[in-house]
Amino acid sequence: MSKMEFKAESKKLLDLMINSIYTHKEIFLRELISNANDAIDKLYFRSLTDQTVGLAREDFEIKLAVDRDARTLTISDNGIGMTREELENNLGTIAKSGSLDFKQQNELDDNVDVIGQFGVGFYSAFMVSERVVVETRAFGSEEAYRWESTGVDGYTIDPCEKDSFGTTITLWIKPNGEEEYDEFLDQYRIQGLVKKYSDYIRYPIRMEMSTSKVKEGTGVDGKDPEYETVSELRTLNSMIPIWRKQKSELTDDDYNRFYQEKFYDFQNPLKVIHTKTEGSATYSALLYIPAQVPYNYYSKDFEKGLQLYTSSVMIMEKCADLLPDYFSFVRGIVDSEDLSLNISRETLQHDRQLKLIAKSLEKKIKSELQKMLKTDRETYLKFYQNFGLQLKYGLYSDYGVHKEELKDLVLFYSSSEQKLVTLAEYVERMKEDQKAIYYASGDAVEHIDHLPQVEMVKDKGYEILYLTDDIDEFALQMLQTYQDKPFQSVSSANLDLETEEEKKENQKQEEEYQPLFDAMKETLGDKVKAVRLSNKLKSHPVCLTNDGMISLEMEKVLNAMPNNQKVKAERVLEINASHPIFEKLKALKDQDSDKLAAYTNILYTQACMIEGLPVEDPVAYANEVCKLLLDETK
Ligand code: ADP
Repeated sequence: MSKMEFKAESKKLLDLMINSIYTHKEIFLRELISNANDAIDKLYFRSLTDQTVGLAREDFEIKLAVDRDARTLTISDNGIGMTREELENNLGTIAKSGSLDFKQQNELDDNVDVIGQFGVGFYSAFMVSERVVVETRAFGSEEAYRWESTGVDGYTIDPCEKDSFGTTITLWIKPNGEEEYDEFLDQYRIQGLVKKYSDYIRYPIRMEMSTSKVKEGTGVDGKDPEYETVSELRTLNSMIPIWRKQKSELTDDDYNRFYQEKFYDFQNPLKVIHTKTEGSATYSALLYIPAQVPYNYYSKDFEKGLQLYTSSVMIMEKCADLLPDYFSFVRGIVDSEDLSLNISRETLQHDRQLKLIAKSLEKKIKSELQKMLKTDRETYLKFYQNFGLQLKYGLYSDYGVHKEELKDLVLFYSSSEQKLVTLAEYVERMKEDQKAIYYASGDAVEHIDHLPQVEMVKDKGYEILYLTDDIDEFALQMLQTYQDKPFQSVSSANLDLETEEEKKENQKQEEEYQPLFDAMKETLGDKVKAVRLSNKLKSHPVCLTNDGMISLEMEKVLNAMPNNQKVKAERVLEINASHPIFEKLKALKDQDSDKLAAYTNILYTQACMIEGLPVEDPVAYANEVCKLLLDETK
């Protein structure tokens, strides 16, 4: 059979493997064992419905063999095997599973732990081998095939003899050179690698090991013992999945390694939650909160879900029903004996047991997050940076039904503390006379801090929550109150900060200046609902506020959404009566109505700009200002 070329990408990966300076060459064994495991899984599943398989659960095994003289390491399984076509497709091209994206790969520099990042699979064999032979026979087929390759210059596939179905992979281990490879011919080293990486594999991994034993009949009656080398078949893995082990048996390293391998993350998780629960829902769960936001997390491509096992056999890769949307960032595994093995996706959804497990998991995740918030604020802040947005969406979604679960987990930036605070912390600090939890919205903390309407509230000594995410105001509106304190925007028309006396005084002034405000309102037309005397401005002449439920910030957000009807906040232009410009306006009211109109337009446009709202007609605005400047110099 003539030599075949690897597909282009495979070649690149092979190059990378062969010339790898990667320090963890040892992972090749984990990769090959995990492939063997998958192949057995496939056949085992089949055996549940197909009598002709003729194997029971305990008949499946993975076998390792070391031959020091021949310098070979062999990995065999009695799994599903591969047909000729599969052999070609699977081992002639790379990353069928999509675990490795080459575009991304090429952009990474050498320092990045490329191989550790992805499950690189079969090709990792070339990190330690100068020649690899795969002999395989697919279940149900009479024909067996032999795939052979020494690396980049291609591979051959020929028919061969094989007694039974399954796959045998033989590695010809590289000679020692600058780097040492002999270790992979050492049975104890191999045993150690299995323990380290593949201990939880559910099928036995067996190896013929030669050990020294005292010869029978020797070493008695004061005579020296004689030794003989005997060979015995040992099972190297405990077959207990990590999540079924006791916490005390496991180190941080065990948890982290398992996470990285299982979920293809190259960073350690931010948080590990390992829990066993008994009672109405009985399960073991190993949950992780990633340290980084998955690249597609905030897109509709993202699929939430936990891996679901029953009695240590996986039944679903991503069970979405186990996680509420607001905790969709959690990754992990749930294993419960309460579920039946051949449960289907459809029946699973209605499974009472599954619902109980989901409820219990949700509680657990929440309490772990609360604990973290209390005892490890720094980590919580990292978490919140990544996934806080999701919690706030959770507050808002489904008409606020989850608000009780989430209200103590959200944080907002505080004007007085200048950092993120909880609502409880805010309420704790509230002044005696303070009626509401104040907030202000904008696109960035610095911008909000300079809003005219923020000044007065701050001056009163009240803390303000600065809302910078689009969802924030919607979330707070859904919440309505926290510990019976209402939320109030500093931009709302009825801020109610004045004393009774001040209120009376304002009322008087409002009446007195009504004709001026009416004139201004007439100039602005539909742009505003009203022009009013402000009770919240200090050093600024004007600001824009709103009547009603929809704030200016919400208007911006809603109008930016696709397919949304245009909404409009009810804008109110507020004027500061103690600002010098007010005297000017009063004077113009009696003297020059054209100029009053020009002033009104300019002040309105400025108020819009301060709010970060678009200027409707920048040219008209520029012309008006220019005209005024010219008047000034006359
Ligand atoms: P991955 O395991 O990520 O899919 P690999 O390169 O490790 O990528 O393997 C490619 C494919 O080759 C596997 O998906 C599987 O279909 C097949 N394969 C590898 N090893 C075996 C095996 N021992 N038995 C059967 N099929 C195998």
